Amino acid sequence: MEKVISGIRPTGNLHLGNYFGAVKSFIRMQDEYQCMFFIADWHSLTTHPTPENLRRSVKTILSEYLACGIDPAKAPIYVQSDVKPVLELYLYLNMNAYLGELERVTSFKEKARTQPDNVNAGLLTYPTLMAADVLAHKADKVPVGKDQEQNMEMMRLFARRFNRIYGVDFFKEPESFHFNKEAVKVPGLDGSGKMGKSEGNAIYLCDDEATIRKKVMRAVTDSGPSQLNQEKPEPIRNLFSLLRLVSAEDTYAYFDDAYNNMTIRYGDLKKQLAQDINAFCAPIRERIADFSSNDAYLDKVAAEGAEIASASAEKTLAEVRAIIGFGK
Ligand code: AMP
Repeated sequence: MEKVISGIRPTGNLHLGNYFGAVKSFIRMQDEYQCMFFIADWHSLTTHPTPENLRRSVKTILSEYLACGIDPAKAPIYVQSDVKPVLELYLYLNMNAYLGELERVTSFKEKARTQPDNVNAGLLTYPTLMAADVLAHKADKVPVGKDQEQNMEMMRLFARRFNRIYGVDFFKEPESFHFNKEAVKVPGLDGSGKMGKSEGNAIYLCDDEATIRKKVMRAVTDSGPSQLNQEKPEPIRNLFSLLRLVSAEDTYAYFDDAYNNMTIRYGDLKKQLAQDINAFCAPIRERIADFSSNDAYLDKVAAEGAEIASASAEKTLAEVRAIIGFGK
């Protein structure tokens, strides 16, 4: 079975965009591939979190992924910093990663431009750490969005370069796994194209019913259709896209008909949407609360994941050391 590995950034809570755009595909993938998921806490140090924030965000993201349905019995989930052989590989890969090529990475250039006071070496070598995370397990596929494509190319370059320098056929070149094709883009509630944390328009899986209602009722609309069967402008289309994700088909059809024959009342549409989003989120929300109050279970999941991932990475590193020329 092909190996798939995915890093999860411990940044804030999961929202509906994350769920329908990524996590839902992860849940399906764990039945079809040999998956591993890790929480990229080393990567997150580029932004210098406080120890409390780091601990809290790792725990939060672990609870939320488990609540969504990642099953550690099918797919180990581990914390990156628990798997030390990856650091060793990061060092080896850095010896053959060149300043020029690292500086040319678009996400590095973007960060260097937006945070000129914090252009640290961790940021520069983000692609080598990402490559070490994946190559340490000799994974076949990495689910990534378009923004990570360049990092994937760097990873393949580092793998090829290692093989060439040492005259071996050791690392395979991991492929990008574009589940984004099947994933839906989840729009924001402010009439904008995309739901996102930084856009401030997100509904989080942990939001309570009153918060969901408040956010949905505030969503941008217009003065209503002025012609029969007219095309929906963006803010309205967005509400229908959300409805499509969380509501029953006949509910969608009911409001679609109402829009087309100009009898729609946006207040009713929003009330229904809020209710259906809440019905979707409620069981996940309850599981998030259960998991996040169960430190013993979270520790157990992370420890079991770390054991599996460490064994896998250590096996690779034992061979890498021998190839490089360490030991007898
Ligand atoms: P982020 O939390 O912004 O780093 O997003 C993590 C992943 O969630 C992204 O790589 C996307 O696959 C997915 N995602 C985030 N926002 C959306 C959205 N509005 N629609 C669809 N997918 C999304």
